[in-house]
Amino acid sequence: MKLIFEKSVPGRGCSLLPACDVEETSLPENLRRATAPALPEMSETDISRHYTELCHNTYGVNCGFYPLGSCTMKYNPRIDEEMAALPGFTGVHPLAPAHATMGCQEVLNLTKKYLCEITGMDDMTFQPAAGAHGEFTGVLLIKQYHDARGDAKRKKIIVPDSAHGTNPATAAMCGFEVVNIASSPDGCVDLEALKAALNDETAGLMLTNPNTVGVFDENILEITHLVHEAGGLCYYDGANLNAIMGVVRPGDMGFDCIHVNLHKTFATPHGGGGPGAGAVGCKGFLAKFLPQSASMQGDGHIQVRGFAGNFLVVVKALTYLMTLGREGIPEAAQNAVLNANYLMQKIRNTFQPAFDRTCMHEFVLNLEQLKKDTGVSALDVAKSLIDYGMHPPTMYFPLIVHEALMLEPTETESKDTLDWVAEVFRKLYELAHEDPEFMRAAPHNARIGRPDEVRAARNPVLRWRNV
Ligand SMILES: *Cc1c(COP(=O)(O)O)cnc(C)c1O
Repeated sequence: MKLIFEKSVPGRGCSLLPACDVEETSLPENLRRATAPALPEMSETDISRHYTELCHNTYGVNCGFYPLGSCTMKYNPRIDEEMAALPGFTGVHPLAPAHATMGCQEVLNLTKKYLCEITGMDDMTFQPAAGAHGEFTGVLLIKQYHDARGDAKRKKIIVPDSAHGTNPATAAMCGFEVVNIASSPDGCVDLEALKAALNDETAGLMLTNPNTVGVFDENILEITHLVHEAGGLCYYDGANLNAIMGVVRPGDMGFDCIHVNLHKTFATPHGGGGPGAGAVGCKGFLAKFLPQSASMQGDGHIQVRGFAGNFLVVVKALTYLMTLGREGIPEAAQNAVLNANYLMQKIRNTFQPAFDRTCMHEFVLNLEQLKKDTGVSALDVAKSLIDYGMHPPTMYFPLIVHEALMLEPTETESKDTLDWVAEVFRKLYELAHEDPEFMRAAPHNARIGRPDEVRAARNPVLRWRNV
């Protein structure tokens, strides 16, 4: 498909600007462009077709099954978008006086109240724009807590080897030394390794529960107790709350602060580069360190983003919370867990779960044996799924499982869809044994087959250049 710049034809256009109804003034000479901007020139029909073509070449949750583990690619009800599009929300100016923004403040306060209730926290900020940004904010709370007590020795953050890559990156960005601890064979925190790592230099622990292998760590109370006993604080990576919301609370597990990705669990899609919100909650004793709104800047508070963050994402979260309600929120979590276990059970007589026990909202398959037997890798299976009109699962994560495929079906998939998915996996398992070469060349029906992902990441070409 051609880029919009390549479709441009000089002289074409479709702008219909209204007649100027104010006095014309011109920019000072030194601020004017020497040449016109290189904007594409196209007819309205061609623009419409261009974006429709792009849309047809894009795969989203509205196209089909999207089991991208750890990302919670679930269907987000349209009503959430509708509420976020109300002019009273989209048109509000961030510097509008308080008396003119009472509705918006109520949205923020109510969402905070509900999410604090769900997570077991006492206070919350919506400033951070993403999960990683929320971690950064939350770990800064831990840093400020120790600094305020004059406990300068605490320079280390413990992170299990199953953690999301953003956890060690966050700890390092906040100036901490990262102490990696190995997981036990069942994918959970190894208590002995934790005890050995804890000392008076420990600032805190970062943990996800259920963890990245989709397993709930049953020792959680002991884990948080051990960290507290050593003088550290416990950070909960709640990027993905789908498995537990309304059922069990990180605050009750012993965590002191947490971030929640509104753009996973609470009605804004993850990925695609759109705005997100990594809401950061904390227990009362940390609340004084939370970022405040811009008007309070300069009084010693950290400030991680302007104003209240991505406000419309919060509007969507509140709509989602209110439509599901007290009964619907835990029901969504329970269905997410049920769907993952159902699919795992239907697949496990062919593909092997990495941890063969009841999972939470997602599970990890280990394809090492398949690769040994047939030469077909996790990547080949993922690419083959594209030919069946399915988005591939998360691949090669978590790092502690080699040849990993991580599936998160989410609560919004039907039993019919899950049965079909299991059937596709069964077919691919057979195909891997019958015709591995065919699978190694997959996908066969996609527009793009196997891009050089390493080169794309290392050498991204993000803008068009007229060469
Ligand atoms: C998605 C995710 C993150 C990071 O969230 P972003 O919004 O992508 O920065 C962190 N931890 C876990 C476990 C996640 O799944």
